[in-house]
Amino acid sequence: MSPSGGIAYRGTRLFIEDCDLAALADEFGTPLYVYSRAALQERFRAYASACAGHDALICYAVKANSNLAILNQLAREGAGFDIVSGGELLRVLAAGGDPKRIIFSGVGKSAAEMELALSHGIACFNVESLSELRLLDRLAGACGKTAPVSLRVNPDVDAKTHPYVATGLRDTKFGIDIDGALAAFREATMLPNLRVIGIDCHIGSQLLDDGPFMQALERLIELIDELAHEGIVLTHLDLGGGLGVAYQGEATVAIEEYVRRALARVDRWREQFHGGAALRVLFEPGRSIVAAAGVLLSRVQYLKPGSARNYAIVDAAMNDLLRPALYDAWHEVLPLEKVDAPVVNWDLVGPVCESGDWLARARDLALREGDLVAILNAGAYGMAMASNYNTRPRAAEILIDGAHAHLVRKRETPEDLFCGETMPAL
Ligand SMILES: *Cc1c(COP(=O)(O)O)cnc(C)c1O
Repeated sequence: MSPSGGIAYRGTRLFIEDCDLAALADEFGTPLYVYSRAALQERFRAYASACAGHDALICYAVKANSNLAILNQLAREGAGFDIVSGGELLRVLAAGGDPKRIIFSGVGKSAAEMELALSHGIACFNVESLSELRLLDRLAGACGKTAPVSLRVNPDVDAKTHPYVATGLRDTKFGIDIDGALAAFREATMLPNLRVIGIDCHIGSQLLDDGPFMQALERLIELIDELAHEGIVLTHLDLGGGLGVAYQGEATVAIEEYVRRALARVDRWREQFHGGAALRVLFEPGRSIVAAAGVLLSRVQYLKPGSARNYAIVDAAMNDLLRPALYDAWHEVLPLEKVDAPVVNWDLVGPVCESGDWLARARDLALREGDLVAILNAGAYGMAMASNYNTRPRAAEILIDGAHAHLVRKRETPEDLFCGETMPAL
């Protein structure tokens, strides 16, 4: 399958699996998110097959795309889940996910969220501060439970990615500073209602090379050894997520290559220094599983050529796909039908009243008003970051299975957006 998730032209028309994308846009309207089940499975299975024969668990990072249908497909593939809120926990459970395969990340878990997770018996809390550790201990004690805990360590590794998605440097809000980690583990083992089982990190997102992951792994391994000397024996090591996607044809390390390299390193160390003891390895991939499995379809409303720039005003906007506005992100744009029109250098912009509302800049495309385009690699952090800014209803979502299209989230109506609001008679 192509890196763009089962997207290919058949003649002049763009298909996803065996579905004509323009026909989907006509049937379901635009803007429209469309996901390929085959592409989703292919990427999850790349992780799973590289992990075969190892004690490893792939915990899909729900925040990348939390549609129930996506979660359900992955649960049926045997995925675990990495959640960052109580809401995500309820989504995973509603989608048939196994609580014993759920890990809970995040720097600001509330007491209510931790209680909810304790009541469902999740696999592990990835704790990010001493204060959180103490609160979790108190809450677990109050409900007569022992909370399984991993400490998220900040290994001070430069992920060399966009500053908004770099999370492994000393000055980020995430994780426990590597220098304070030993003391934090010592305190954690003293707390009566916690069971300290692991160590984790997540150094950033959209990493194209696995060098920084391997650097972080070395630091975690050193720490596990130091802890073992003190009698604190960990049974799981979680490398986080963050593997990148070739949005612009960049060279990226393959999923299998990275996973095999990491597991081989752990095996070598375990046999030499860890007495062959059990150590489960966890991965928390989001983007690398779901980004290429999704496209955003949009219709060209107006063409507005100008003296400085040529604007193609489309019906999708920053509220549908925030990544360009937020991160200056680049997404490939393809017309759903190749047409005989002059190729012009267009900026694709949305209807939202912000100059930052753009989806793609300076693209040579043959476009006419009314034409449809696909914005590729939109499966991750697309719909998941969508908002209702400008009272714009969020798009519908479709899951494709071969020649079949399944509506997996209906389009919002404007009334949906204000149905919770009231006007006091003041
Ligand atoms: C966001 C996040 C992930 C997933 O990152 P991707 O870049 O989508 O793979 C994994 N773990 C944690 C803790 C995260 O915050």
